[in-house]
Amino acid sequence: MLVNLADCCECPLYEGATNVVPGEGNPESDILFLGEGPGRQEDATGRPFVGPAGKVLNGVLRELRLRRSDVFITNLVRHRPPGNRVPIPSEIESCSHWLDEELVVVRPQLIVCLGNTAASRYFPDKAPLGSLRALSDRTIVVSTYHPAFFARARRPAVRQKIIDDIAEGMKVAGVDSPSP
Ligand code: URA
Repeated sequence: MLVNLADCCECPLYEGATNVVPGEGNPESDILFLGEGPGRQEDATGRPFVGPAGKVLNGVLRELRLRRSDVFITNLVRHRPPGNRVPIPSEIESCSHWLDEELVVVRPQLIVCLGNTAASRYFPDKAPLGSLRALSDRTIVVSTYHPAFFARARRPAVRQKIIDDIAEGMKVAGVDSPSP
């Protein structure tokens, strides 16, 4: 059965959600950012990374001379887990075909996994954050901290590590920042 994302009820998360949150950004981007799932403000607006973690991500992008409109930003699950809990494997699995479809459209050279939950899609053996993996001749995956961790802990070293991990991923994937 074909389902529109807006009507998706393939896992129970839709029951408590206000809005579905699709990926957004440049569908021709070389870089795709993968988060865990919508939080409160994302649920209220239907847009990914617009709350406190999004503000951190926007600042990180600026330091890398990237704009949100240069990249594609999405999540493992598209409805907010109650109370911002971590999505469970069956929810991630139900939602994974939406991400697969976005990946077919965007065809990124670099996938940046924000946090351990997103990283578990590509690093099932729990590789340390900052790990790189080649998915194919074309696509590299890098894992780094979730921006929400910096939003909570405010440790400058965490923010710098996010920037450094993404910069390293861009270097290895051969992706440049667009000219300012
Ligand atoms: N955290 C996520 O993982 N995704 C969002 O969209 C917002 C916060």
